[in-house]
Amino acid sequence: MAKKIVTDLDLKNKKVLVRLDFNVPMKDGKITNDNRIVAALPTIKYILENGGKVIAFSHLGKVKTKEDLISKSIRPAANRLAELLEKEVKFIPTTKGPELEAAVDALKPGEIMMFENTRFEDLDGKKESSNDPELGKYWASLGDLFVNDAFGTAHRSHASNIGIAANIGEGKTAAGFLMEKEIKFIGGAVDNPTKPLIAILGGSKVSDKIGVIENLLDKADKILVGGAMMFTFLRALGKNTGKSMVEEDKLDLAKSLLDKANGKLVLPIDTVVSKEFNNDAPHKTVSVNNIPEDQMGLDIGAATIKLFSEEISNAKTVVWNGPMGVFEMPNYAKGTIGVCEAIANLKNSTTIIGGGDSAAAAIQLGYASKFTHISTGGGASLEYLEGKELPGIVSISEK
Ligand code: ADP
Ligand code: MG
Repeated sequence: MAKKIVTDLDLKNKKVLVRLDFNVPMKDGKITNDNRIVAALPTIKYILENGGKVIAFSHLGKVKTKEDLISKSIRPAANRLAELLEKEVKFIPTTKGPELEAAVDALKPGEIMMFENTRFEDLDGKKESSNDPELGKYWASLGDLFVNDAFGTAHRSHASNIGIAANIGEGKTAAGFLMEKEIKFIGGAVDNPTKPLIAILGGSKVSDKIGVIENLLDKADKILVGGAMMFTFLRALGKNTGKSMVEEDKLDLAKSLLDKANGKLVLPIDTVVSKEFNNDAPHKTVSVNNIPEDQMGLDIGAATIKLFSEEISNAKTVVWNGPMGVFEMPNYAKGTIGVCEAIANLKNSTTIIGGGDSAAAAIQLGYASKFTHISTGGGASLEYLEGKELPGIVSISEK
């Protein structure tokens, strides 16, 4: 079941449709973080250097109103791409029609163009997001080959991924290098990990991560639980959790997961508590057996960091989703930093972090280079960790 990658395609003189993930954060028409554009360069350069003609496109945000046609234009991303490539990127301010078709026809090998935000097609009947059959067919008709490098939308069935793949022709869809990495590392960790596999789960809600916990309970040797979700488990065990975040309606589920886990789920033994959700309020570390009624747990404590670090030191594969505490506040970032440290100390292990806030935490805390792989997809990495088949990946041709 190996998927084609861009290096498996004969690109010379071919019109190559390239689905990118340029869903970059913007403020007042300016890009505030160009990581995703930088990350796309290897795939684009490879196609250009091998004589392909690149027709690039991506979605940007959600498009619901006429005003969005101005504020959600992807032109700033095309301009930034041109700067990074040190090359002209011809921008076509539309998603279909004669101007776009003429630009495609005029493209020479080694040249690149980009067209508008694919979700402009959502304004009139959600054509992109509901995978309107005519739209996928039309976009496919513009190119000879299709390279999908947008892992962030791989869990969606949109015209700009599966619609094009279904129409471009047999054997003509390949993964770009970013997509290839996600398949190799997340897919590899879930399907065929080198053991022991230690999963670390945290973040805000159990309910967001039920599928991930269930899938990893089968596959991982241990699951370390931190973040706010720990309190739902602690309460399910009958402990007092004070003002901590607990999902009352998930207590039965937490109980049944604990029963199924057979000791695989490792819960914190201490927590940092405060009366307020506030970095500057007084805080202290207490045993999970003594959480004061009027306080909330905002991080794992030092004894738990030690316990988790010992578990992590045995791992050959680590999969991490969800921060250990409210890492945005320095006083509650220590648990997340401690786990980053434990992972940084591993040798010869594959370490993967996924999830929007988790990836942001690893980067913000200065540990980005310590991971084998930081997944770029939020929802997509979660669904992949749940063991689901992602339509965007399924639609890539087999080798
Ligand atoms: P991801 O985006 O990586 O999947 P989540 O969105 O599930 O992660 O969770 C991230 C959020 O969880 C962070 O904003 C963090 O502040 C919050 N969080 C972690 N621990 C706690 C806690 N003990 N109480 C409240 N919020 C928490
Ligand atoms: Mg999140």
